[in-house]
Amino acid sequence: MAQSRGLVERLYSWLTPAWVVSPTMQAVRNGFLLCLPLVVAGALAVLCNNLPLPGYQDAMLYLFGPNWRQGLFALVWQGSFGVLSLPMVIGISYNLVLVHNQENPLAPISPAMACGVALAAFMVLLPPEDMLGYVGVQGLFVGILASVTATRLLLRLVTVKALEMQIYSEGSASASQAFASLVAGLLTLFVFAAIGIGFRASFGLSVQEAIRELVLFPVRFEFFHDMLSTGIAYVFVTHVCWFFGLHGTNVLDPLTRDIFEAATQANLLAQAQGLPPPHIVTKTLLDIFVFMGGAGTSICLLAAILIASHNHGSCRMAKISIAPGLFNINEIVLFGLPVILNPVFLVPFLLVPLVLTLVSFLAIRWGFVPLPTVAPDWTTPPILGGLLATQSVAGSLLQAFNLALGTSIYLPFVRLSDRLKSERQNAAKQKLLEIACNNAVGPSGKKCLDRDDEVGALARILAHELEIAMKTGEGLFLEYQPLVDGRSGRVVGAEALVRWKHPVFGPVPAPVIIAISEDGEFIRTLGLWVLNEACAERARWHDEGLAADFKTSVNLSARQLDDESLPEKVAQCRDYYHLSTPMIGIEVTESVALDPDALHNQVLNSLHDHGFAISIDDFGMGHSSLVYLKYFPVDVLKIDKVLSKDVTSSKISEEVITTIVKLCRALKIKIVVEFVENQEQIDCLHALGCHVYQGYFFSPPLRGDGMLAYALRMNAAADARGYAYMAPHEPPAE
Ligand code: C2E
Ligand code: CA
Ligand code: CA
Repeated sequence: MAQSRGLVERLYSWLTPAWVVSPTMQAVRNGFLLCLPLVVAGALAVLCNNLPLPGYQDAMLYLFGPNWRQGLFALVWQGSFGVLSLPMVIGISYNLVLVHNQENPLAPISPAMACGVALAAFMVLLPPEDMLGYVGVQGLFVGILASVTATRLLLRLVTVKALEMQIYSEGSASASQAFASLVAGLLTLFVFAAIGIGFRASFGLSVQEAIRELVLFPVRFEFFHDMLSTGIAYVFVTHVCWFFGLHGTNVLDPLTRDIFEAATQANLLAQAQGLPPPHIVTKTLLDIFVFMGGAGTSICLLAAILIASHNHGSCRMAKISIAPGLFNINEIVLFGLPVILNPVFLVPFLLVPLVLTLVSFLAIRWGFVPLPTVAPDWTTPPILGGLLATQSVAGSLLQAFNLALGTSIYLPFVRLSDRLKSERQNAAKQKLLEIACNNAVGPSGKKCLDRDDEVGALARILAHELEIAMKTGEGLFLEYQPLVDGRSGRVVGAEALVRWKHPVFGPVPAPVIIAISEDGEFIRTLGLWVLNEACAERARWHDEGLAADFKTSVNLSARQLDDESLPEKVAQCRDYYHLSTPMIGIEVTESVALDPDALHNQVLNSLHDHGFAISIDDFGMGHSSLVYLKYFPVDVLKIDKVLSKDVTSSKISEEVITTIVKLCRALKIKIVVEFVENQEQIDCLHALGCHVYQGYFFSPPLRGDGMLAYALRMNAAADARGYAYMAPHEPPAE
């Protein structure tokens, strides 16, 4: 197992040059994903037009007449698979521009404009006499090439100062963007038109046709003298084509007809004459035993994902793909996972069909399975197809064996794909946390929700699901971290901290919860949910015998302080749970609280007037002057980790804390020190005159019951030691 994992990873790293995992290729794969609705629609239309269920075709004929296949489903096909290259070109170009704009926020390019240029560049490469013949799936390879190169060229040309046409058109950003890239767009299009003309002049063919010929050229198969090697070469080339977005089956269609269909005909003729059939490798053999679920034997890939994958996205994709996949329609998994241009699946996508061709050949050659002589409908599901084609259960058994073999080859690659996806996801999570902890916001005033990268995508998913979680309460809860008076060992209060355990992503860090709630503008709702939970828990603790002056502090975000009715809501919540005012405290961060011009100071004053203690959180992090403390309704000051963590080693931190203590004594402000993690810190802080601590030295944040048990135990021990009772958050002694 470990050995196979090592081999798979080595294979992957050998076959994956840097460009394959470059942002460009990622943009291409994301471009496929943008077209997923069309791919699913196309696959369903093909399925509905070809469903091989008994009676279905007759019923459709009866209901909609002899032309039913040209009806609704044909139209859906025409609008999806029939023109699939066009949205793919747009999707790829769009994603490339998003990457560019993320990297160059000061010189963004309009994605719509770039998509237009990429589309035009693709169109000029099409053969004018048969344009529609090359805009479907079969045009994809040139579509990808054209979209990437045209967009890259455009992005390069727009940075050339000499080509810029600066027009300040009444402050309209779109107009000045359009003019700035006018010449670049024009040039890009002419370059592509020149390439198209060049191809025609040199080869007498359009780019699309020339590429097709180029692929067919080395695979004339004349070099192979037996059908097995021809079959293996054919299967290999078909899958290489598919992997790069060339419709392998279509490209090699002339060969399929000339060689493998001819082999089927030769077998039929021999059979009619009572002779043994001369060929084992025929089109029917490949269709029945190799192309199960479509190219790449993708039904095995779906099975491997459903068996081994823990990635939510892959599993969902596999579930959507399984119904069409059973009928050999595999575009959803090819473009949705994706398999095409995905280096992780290159090896099994090529290997599985090759191995199955060989196994099937040998099974028939050695007489285990009769030669398939009947060609069932192409949508006939595996197992049934083997039975019909060979008129023997052995045909089904060989299919089952092949399915198991193919699935087992795919399995380690599915695990590798899972691991790579989870690494990417973890990187995005880490980045999101960094952004959430940072105060910087984007031009729209949001921290993360409007980002165009993976971090933004993750933030949007989380924000959407957090809104749902707030309604259902699922996965959302509070933890409480005790505040301990170091002199008596008594627990004097607790800070309520929001927690969210996402069903897929696991625990979401509190700063991320807050950042996405602020960005998504539902922070007030979340804040009230937290307040309500904390009050309900405080009431339970009261019933369990916790002292009346034990204070639960709730954090408030800056945005909540814009709500004039907040003090009233806090008071209502207090009354609803029959709490007394000292049981609830409010924490706001320094930067928010100490802004003398801000409107929300009015709200803080009102909360203070109601009697709720106001704590200034993270003191020492911001840049406010200590003097401001004089003008604000501050009851408690929480010294931040930047000062408390290195108080034992930094003279500066020690001096700053000494100054804060002095000032707080004068202003009758209580002090709590955060991030207290060891005894030396406590000794030092005690000497400086700070006595109430919060930190891992005493306890990490705990669930409600754990917090209550901790407080009762600590307080009972303090009583037993005979310590005199001290008021919570008592100001430092003179
Ligand atoms: P905060 O208010 O400064 O909360 C203290 C944070 O430090 C908590 O992180 C806590 O788990 C952590 N912590 C406490 N003691 C120690 C220690 O000794 N060592 C270390 N390494 N960490 C310690 P958490 O829960 O991740 O919360 C992070 C921030 O998220 C909070 O910082 C607060 O600003 C915000 N937050 C949490 N819950 C809420 C909430 O309900 N509403 C609002 N608006 N903000 C909240
Ligand atoms: Ca806090
Ligand atoms: Ca803090």
